[in-house]
Amino acid sequence: MGLSQKENELIKKALIEQKTGLLKEANKTVSSDLGVVEEELADTIDRSSVETERNFTLRLRDRERKLLKKIDEALDRLENGEFGDCQECGESIGLKRLKARPVATLCINCKEAQEQKESQFG
Ligand SMILES: [Zn+2]
Repeated sequence: MGLSQKENELIKKALIEQKTGLLKEANKTVSSDLGVVEEELADTIDRSSVETERNFTLRLRDRERKLLKKIDEALDRLENGEFGDCQECGESIGLKRLKARPVATLCINCKEAQEQKESQFG
């Protein structure tokens, strides 16, 4: 959707912050179990050790795991230049919405339609 370099960086930063926050949450559990210290976690995130990250991920609740996956997917889309398009109608999701919710994959119209459908049938 033609994000500027600066917008791209902002979104990426927001996503990484959100991801770090989630992993830190997971680390709270890890800390009490294994005595992992804060610095080690920071190191882990820096190196993006897949194995360690998976261990952290196992400790996350289902909802958080799903969010983490969404964050990773959003980061992928940023890398591929596919970020910001609605996966339903292909329209631009809109920068304002993306800033509020960087993991959004649907534009507001499609999101509302989806929610309506869910409240109707779910
Ligand atoms: Zn849409």
